[in-house]
Amino acid sequence: MAIIPINIKEGTLKLEDYIIGIDLGTTNSLVAIIDRISGKPKAIAGQNSEVIVPSIVYLNPNGEILVGEDAKPFLVDDPHNTIFSVKRLMGKSYSDVVISDSSIGYKLIDDNSESLVKIKSGDKFYTPIELSSFILKDLKKKAERHLGAKISKAVITVPAYFNDAQRQATRDAGKLAGLDVLRIVNEPTAASLAYGIGLNPEEGKTVAVYDLGGGTFDISILKIHQGVFEVLSTHGNTQLGGDDFDNAIIKFWSDTNSEIRNATQLPLLLPKLRLMAEDAKKQLSGAMNFEGVLTTENLAIPLSLSREDFEQLIKPLVDKTIESCKQAMKDADLRCIELDEIIMVGGSTRIEFVQNEVKKFFNKLSINTALNPDEVVALGAAIEADILAGNRRDILLVDVTPLSLGIETLGGLMDVIIPRNSKVPQRAARQYTTSVDGQGTLRICIYQGERDNIVHNRKLGEFLLSGVPGMPAGMPKIEITFMLDADGILKVGAQELRSGVEQHIEVKPQYGLTDKDLEQMLLDSMVNAKDDLNYRSLQEAKTEAQNLNYATLNFINKNKTELSESELEKTKSYIDLLKAAISTENKDQILKAHDELNDFTKPYAERLMDKAIVMALKGKTIEDN
Ligand code: AMP
Repeated sequence: MAIIPINIKEGTLKLEDYIIGIDLGTTNSLVAIIDRISGKPKAIAGQNSEVIVPSIVYLNPNGEILVGEDAKPFLVDDPHNTIFSVKRLMGKSYSDVVISDSSIGYKLIDDNSESLVKIKSGDKFYTPIELSSFILKDLKKKAERHLGAKISKAVITVPAYFNDAQRQATRDAGKLAGLDVLRIVNEPTAASLAYGIGLNPEEGKTVAVYDLGGGTFDISILKIHQGVFEVLSTHGNTQLGGDDFDNAIIKFWSDTNSEIRNATQLPLLLPKLRLMAEDAKKQLSGAMNFEGVLTTENLAIPLSLSREDFEQLIKPLVDKTIESCKQAMKDADLRCIELDEIIMVGGSTRIEFVQNEVKKFFNKLSINTALNPDEVVALGAAIEADILAGNRRDILLVDVTPLSLGIETLGGLMDVIIPRNSKVPQRAARQYTTSVDGQGTLRICIYQGERDNIVHNRKLGEFLLSGVPGMPAGMPKIEITFMLDADGILKVGAQELRSGVEQHIEVKPQYGLTDKDLEQMLLDSMVNAKDDLNYRSLQEAKTEAQNLNYATLNFINKNKTELSESELEKTKSYIDLLKAAISTENKDQILKAHDELNDFTKPYAERLMDKAIVMALKGKTIEDN
């Protein structure tokens, strides 16, 4: 098995192609490559010599899409259509998303709390995958401009705590951006590589990677041996970072200065104050005192902050990160003395106080701060890309599976269980359920390939799981397990966990597949990425809409007596509208009608729910009443 790099445009194999390393961050993103002359990784600068691309997308109602610095002003000018922090939404359902609605200007769609979250802008619905693909496309363009060559391959980093769905979503975003994602690499692994740790297969090390950015914090403990990076533990806080330090400064200034307190009430002044607080924080990384003047048309407020006050302000926040470190060390079952290196990542680790607290906790005299903490993850991704390109022959590459393996789910969609380029041997499992009441038999069809519509993938086999005891739809818990051994043999097992009923099959994914077939399959998946995503989104929207119609009809039939004539009438007409929308095969229309039915039924569903709770407390049901 091997990694097959392809040139999308020509459909040819090109081993000398550049592979870019991408740090797709919550706040900022970067792209890096290995400089062919120096052999060292470097972050690519854009037209205005800026290396960092803010992870912001502006969806202009006229259809234009702006990314990065160009999108930034619209956070204030048009917040409903300006999307930031989309990384927090990757691979998540609405119920998973912890961002409070007040902190974002754009609209998240709260429909089926189990399905993947979508973002509404104008009349269109976007997935986090599409939005991330816009950022990736921008980074790809930046690299192409810099290199004067087309780029088709990349390594993308993700946090160590990202689950399967989040990694798959990142992979899909890459594909949609026209990138063959050769590997998804953990951010702490990339940071270690950037410091040269793990490049010598003879050397074993245990490291802690402390990553404090603008909005998130995480700590990962890694054990590196023979080129394998094992994550022993990870801990963190997805709502803690340098932005909180800025807020602490603003609070301090407004607590100690009435003019500022009044100014914070003026929405136009707040962004200026925020910039000044960030400026103060950055200056205090070098200086002992900050002096500035907040000016507006008719105000000039002098502001100051000493290093000592600043450190007092951020201490409780830094303490929280140290608590996480403590927990991560406990989970890894390690003592500080057993750690060989501490690596610092993220802009906020430039703060001396942070560095000192980290040194103190880990009981180390020195920590790794030599590289630019904003760039370190992207630099490591470029090194991993170079390894994958075969330019570092001394480094052993583990075998990977060349095509994704998965099963068919509702709507003829491919559900990937083992993604392409996963290390072999590999074991992965996922749980499914039934969609029909009393379903006793399930057909499990196994496919290989990168396309969303299974008809374009290769069928490897199928089997029946029969004898599942009759249960209502959604009750059975069917676990499908894929085990790919080192010889490339795939064993698939299905077990209904409540009853224990199980069935197995063995297939050979690579059987009868030539390198040429493989290359063509990859090429097709890249060329058709947009159509595939549209197909998937449409099928998912239709399935969700049908489920909502079914559930709503059931609900109103059960609760007829509790609803007014007008509520019943209107609900039925919204159901008809949704049915009509489904038949249009237009995803946006289906989602819009879905949203409208949902918005209409929500208030009375909540009303009945409240009533049911009161009744239950009295020991009655609504029907008894
Ligand atoms: P990142 O998310 O890794 O790009 O980190 C961005 C955060 O680092 C923001 O909160 C910045 O204000 C902060 N930052 C950047 N430079 C400095 C500095 N010199 N001192 C303190 N914080 C900084």
